[in-house]
Amino acid sequence: MDLTTVEAGTRCPFCGGLMEIVEDEKYLWFGCRGCMRYVKREKRDLVRRYVNYGARIFDWRGIMAELSRLYETS
Ligand SMILES: [Zn+2]
Repeated sequence: MDLTTVEAGTRCPFCGGLMEIVEDEKYLWFGCRGCMRYVKREKRDLVRRYVNYGARIFDWRGIMAELSRLYETS
């Protein structure tokens, strides 16, 4: 499977390691390699809720906030 991984630019609240975002065909995964903990959201769902095509806005900050919250609470 094709995976794209980028550093998220934030630190893991549990171990202090760099958070990363991994994208596959269907999901965006957010997590820490050190802890081996990841949460995921369906890309289609994120696009539907965070991309406003009319206003040409991609709310990346909103996505990151949601994924961070999910990571910390799951
Ligand atoms: Zn960690």
